[in-house]
Amino acid sequence: MTIARAARHFWLPVTNENERGGVRHAFRGPRWDGRPADSAVCGEQVALARPSELDWIHFPSCGDCYEILKSEQ
Ligand SMILES: [Zn+2]
Repeated sequence: MTIARAARHFWLPVTNENERGGVRHAFRGPRWDGRPADSAVCGEQVALARPSELDWIHFPSCGDCYEILKSEQ
């Protein structure tokens, strides 16, 4: 079960609430299904919205999400 969970995740840009910019977090699941909020792999609870193409290009990946996923492989 742990292995199946680790194998399924997706990345989504998340806009910061109180400042410009944002960060790409990883989330559990095959894809974003339109849910308005979720817990990222790193444990942060964030609001989700459909990202723009610019968000994908400009937002850096969350280092904590990346390290956790890497450690699960
Ligand atoms: Zn994260």
